Amino acid sequence: MRFDYHIGLGGNIGDPAAQMTAALNQLDSHESCAVVGVSKLYKTPPWGKTDQPDFLNACAHIKSDFMPLDLLDECQRAEKAQNRVREVRWGPRTVDLDIILWSGGAFTSQRLDIPHPRFKSRAFVLLPLMDLDPESEMGPDRVSELLNELDQSDIEVLRDETWFDQARQP
Ligand code: ATP
Ligand code: MG
Ligand code: MG
Repeated sequence: MRFDYHIGLGGNIGDPAAQMTAALNQLDSHESCAVVGVSKLYKTPPWGKTDQPDFLNACAHIKSDFMPLDLLDECQRAEKAQNRVREVRWGPRTVDLDIILWSGGAFTSQRLDIPHPRFKSRAFVLLPLMDLDPESEMGPDRVSELLNELDQSDIEVLRDETWFDQARQP
């Protein structure tokens, strides 16, 4: 398949791990989209709006023939299937799927910016990204250098990289 994508996943309502699994299975079910790797699963403190439950976060490596806006549509469809409702910015959610990087370089449109505009200041994205691609050849800055600038002290590893394999649909 033509493109590599790194997707950031997060959620803090219901059963976030189950919702992330279902969303990844939904993406993987497309002929032109394959989940080829996932990071460890992390428990992280809320970012941006702090009076809400802790989040689970992970990143996934996807190979796909979808162009970015088509993949965004599929990500939003998968969020909706998990009953994602948008009320407060950065508020509680069942599952969020953000496109962090892709192999096509920079992409800008009204609905979509890649690289994701805020990923470099988020340890909850950079840490799982490191699991997938420690050198992050896909991004202009090395992920490990960005991480050195951020506080990661409250982030915990909940599960190793096999968390998705166990729930993957054939
Ligand atoms: P943040 O983007 O800061 O992580 P969020 O994920 O909670 O916040 P959403 O409500 O999921 O925000 O998305 C708001 C809009 O962001 C989407 O409707 C989408 O059009 C836009 N967007 C822009 N760039 C991206 C991207 N790289 N990945 C996903 N959505 C994006
Ligand atoms: Mg987000
Ligand atoms: Mg989002």
